[in-house]
Amino acid sequence: MTRQKITTLIHHPYRAPPGFGSPATPIHKASTIFFPSCAALNSRYEKQKTGYIYGLHGTPTSFVLEERLATLEGGLHTLLLPSGLAAITLVNMALLKTGDEVLIPANAYGPSIELARHQLSQWGITHRLYNPLNAAEVTTLMGPNTKLIWLEAAGSVTLEFPDLVALVNLAKERNVITVLDNTWGAGIAFNAFNLTPTEPAPVLGVDITIQALTKYPSGGGDVLMGSVTTRDEALHQRLNACHMRMGWGVGAGDLEAVLRALPTIELRYEAQDRSARVLAQWWTQQPQAKHVLHPALPSSPGHAHWQRISPGHAACLFSVVFDEKFSVAQVHAFVDALQLFKIGLSWAGPISLAVPFNLSALRGSNPWGGCGHLVRFAVGFEAIEDLMLDCEQALSAMALV
Ligand SMILES: *Cc1c(COP(=O)(O)O)cnc(C)c1O
Repeated sequence: MTRQKITTLIHHPYRAPPGFGSPATPIHKASTIFFPSCAALNSRYEKQKTGYIYGLHGTPTSFVLEERLATLEGGLHTLLLPSGLAAITLVNMALLKTGDEVLIPANAYGPSIELARHQLSQWGITHRLYNPLNAAEVTTLMGPNTKLIWLEAAGSVTLEFPDLVALVNLAKERNVITVLDNTWGAGIAFNAFNLTPTEPAPVLGVDITIQALTKYPSGGGDVLMGSVTTRDEALHQRLNACHMRMGWGVGAGDLEAVLRALPTIELRYEAQDRSARVLAQWWTQQPQAKHVLHPALPSSPGHAHWQRISPGHAACLFSVVFDEKFSVAQVHAFVDALQLFKIGLSWAGPISLAVPFNLSALRGSNPWGGCGHLVRFAVGFEAIEDLMLDCEQALSAMALV
């Protein structure tokens, strides 16, 4: 059959030869995916991850990233979402229904609490905030409707490190599912699915992790993506079914960016960890700082828990609580005067960032919340001497206000 030129062009026979190899994962883009036959089309939903259905449900490229992230976190299955917050949403939507209750640490990622306050409560799902440093209190908060406990180590902004082992044990005793927001640890600091690797069996781990791939796995400050990882087959099927129904997908360009950055994640994590510790230590010697919050500092809340789970590793973050004698205007003047540290959300990218927070507004009347003005620093890849000089000159600017 002789075909018209346009038909031949669209159905062109050339295919990339087998045996071609390069360091990069091939980038497959698709909404439509061809089925070889009507029978294959009709059996499409039996395939799960062993075959391709539609771009939204995975391509060879997204499957590669899922597999690598599962390996990174010590899990078996990973699902990808368009942001870290969407990953949090998926877990809540897949596992909670009207009448259920979810426990969330009071120092959780802010939008996760907002999601519970507004959307979950609208669907008749209640939540309680717990003190991340008081595992015993969680026992009193757990009721018959408690179906899920969120964990975060270290917590957002104030970086308290919870007793993960105690919390996971408590949840297991009552058959409550645990989910760790593992963005801080990134799968590098500790294995969330085996929290006590040096102790004899049985293995103790969380049931699910989520990660904002936006942070370490992307590492560029230019991609939004999230992941949900589990070791449990039945739990994965519940999450996957909800994922397929919700219409959440990720773009091939973003997959490419994360796949390109992933091989250097440990090097980047460790380099930023070293710089953050040096800078946090430097801040402990500045008279303007009342507290420096970094899990590796013995004075930081939950330091002993950090030491048990993650002694070798900490993320690029630390926070400085300024002495009360400095006004909010002075703290803002300090942040505004920083030149290398940019004012911006997110972290783990190449450029250092600083964000001021009002602790009383952030933590409300919770007794563990503290008060005063805090600056959260995220250390990038700049030379540490330059970052120190930048803080020093900005402190001088603050004195002038
Ligand atoms: C940034 C962050 C998220 C959300 O990630 P996005 O991709 O920005 O939605 C969730 N949890 C933690 C701890 C984070 O730091």
